[in-house]
Amino acid sequence: MRKVLRGFLALLAPLRCAGCDEPIDVPAAFCDACAASNQLAALPGAVFEYGGPVADAIQRFKYEGRSELATALGALMAEEALRSSARFDAVVPVPLHWRRRRARGYDQAALLAKPVAKALGVPALLRGLRRVRNTPSQVDLPFGERQRNVRRAFAASRLRGARRVLLVDDVRTTGATIRAASEALTEGGALEVHSLVLAARVLSEAA
Ligand SMILES: [Zn+2]
Repeated sequence: MRKVLRGFLALLAPLRCAGCDEPIDVPAAFCDACAASNQLAALPGAVFEYGGPVADAIQRFKYEGRSELATALGALMAEEALRSSARFDAVVPVPLHWRRRRARGYDQAALLAKPVAKALGVPALLRGLRRVRNTPSQVDLPFGERQRNVRRAFAASRLRGARRVLLVDDVRTTGATIRAASEALTEGGALEVHSLVLAARVLSEAA
């Protein structure tokens, strides 16, 4: 009976692997094959190394309107956050500029922050940071320019007294965005800022 019911529910809203988009029959972000080819991050502060199925998942999630993937991808980040020995008062997403959010219809880091905050039992302060400058996309910029590009791009607001903050974003490349956002949080009164991304790119300073 449960199997029939599950099949019926799957017909209504088929579960699909975030990596290859094939149907899966158990709630998870990735099918077994994709899960096996995702590389776990070598350093803390990220769930995966960027590439393979997780890169495809992020592409779908950010640029193809698949905002529903936030639940399953956010759950993986929540597991990672729960493994940390650090304690947090709040989760704050790295925000998009409102113009980009309006164009996309949603802010991917905010969607990821919600399940992470829920798992940690703390509030997700979706307006804890604001983009005060609309910076060009980091994707095509060389390393040094990325630092300059995002410097002072953020301002903290409405931290509601949170001292220990977990900063959440989808991807970390050089870390320039995370650094700028952390600095803004510190200026806004946070004493301890940790960051967590779904996937970290490995990029040398020369790249
Ligand atoms: Zn898959």
